[in-house]
Amino acid sequence: MSLSSFRFPTDIRFGAGAIALLPRILRERNVKRPLLVTDHGVLSCAFFTGIQQLLAKEEVVYATYADFGGNPTKKFVTAGVEAFRRHNADGLIILGGGCALDVGKAIGLMATHEGDLFDYEDDKPGAPAIEPRLPFMVAIPTTAGTGSEVGGSSVISDDETHRKVIIWGTAMVPKVVLADPELTFELPATITAYTGMDALTHNIEAYLAKNYHPMCEGIAVEGVRLAFEFLPRAVENPRDLEARKGMLMSSMMGATAFQKGLGVTHSCAHALSTCFDWHHGFANAVMLSACLRFNRDVSLTKLAHLGRVLGGTSSSTETLADFFLQKVETLCQQVGIPTTLKAKGAHITEALIEVATQDSCHLNNPKPCTKEDFRRIFHSVEG
Ligand SMILES: [Zn+2]
Repeated sequence: MSLSSFRFPTDIRFGAGAIALLPRILRERNVKRPLLVTDHGVLSCAFFTGIQQLLAKEEVVYATYADFGGNPTKKFVTAGVEAFRRHNADGLIILGGGCALDVGKAIGLMATHEGDLFDYEDDKPGAPAIEPRLPFMVAIPTTAGTGSEVGGSSVISDDETHRKVIIWGTAMVPKVVLADPELTFELPATITAYTGMDALTHNIEAYLAKNYHPMCEGIAVEGVRLAFEFLPRAVENPRDLEARKGMLMSSMMGATAFQKGLGVTHSCAHALSTCFDWHHGFANAVMLSACLRFNRDVSLTKLAHLGRVLGGTSSSTETLADFFLQKVETLCQQVGIPTTLKAKGAHITEALIEVATQDSCHLNNPKPCTKEDFRRIFHSVEG
């Protein structure tokens, strides 16, 4: 018997001004002393002052934990759990991009569970169960890329070895998401482009991934369309509300869809981040086209469908698939993504190829990718 398991995300309030619902959401859930978790970069954003005023006006007794930024590591989680206990907190407001969201969700886990964070590593033999007793968590994304606000995973690096540890549990999906596109107005063009390309890559890889999940595939196709329509506009004009909305939605759709699986692009990107400290979205963007060409033969029908969705009219499957590949390359150019590893100081090493090969994302790629395949893919973009 072959059964499939489907999970769909959470209570999402979406649209300009959604942030204003925050005090009401806390009241409804009887949260009286939340810990606000955000990375330090957010503190200087204009919208952060607005959120502080909103909470002060409603006399919410909150404390802020913002003593972190960059790549999420375990020490940030440990310090966050201490802040949670010091404040005697009864809930979490998690505000920010992928880093804050991953750290915040892990704080929720460790504030209510015994032992060491890495005991809970996904698929670790003997790992203790993640129980549904996590504190109430409301997630408020300020970037449109990872979609971590609608996901149950948290990726935290070991401070010493830099190894990325994935922790996953349905109880780690935030109970409410306030997705307010106006909170992404202050993102610089480069970060808009990199995070947006991550969202696009999630949607494309989820659609092509080999697992059976037509619900995710439907979502992924629309997520791809939204990214093509709105990413160039969001990069060009940071205050284009319609474009910011489109990208925030594409980001959440990508993260919803990728429970179906990802693929070789993410394995290459994880290796580039580990070996050369590349931004995750940037790494995906540089690798995407080469990885789609690697998959072209087995994914021809799906690539052709994406070509059709983007306006291709040819009756030839091959031509439509190539039309889509061309669209990906044009989009990369439009939003300023280079086409080679050298352009940002990376080069091919055995370690790079090894990390990509060991990464688990490509296990769901539509076709197997060997170490030699990874070598060839990296060589095709070396420059
Ligand atoms: Zn990603």
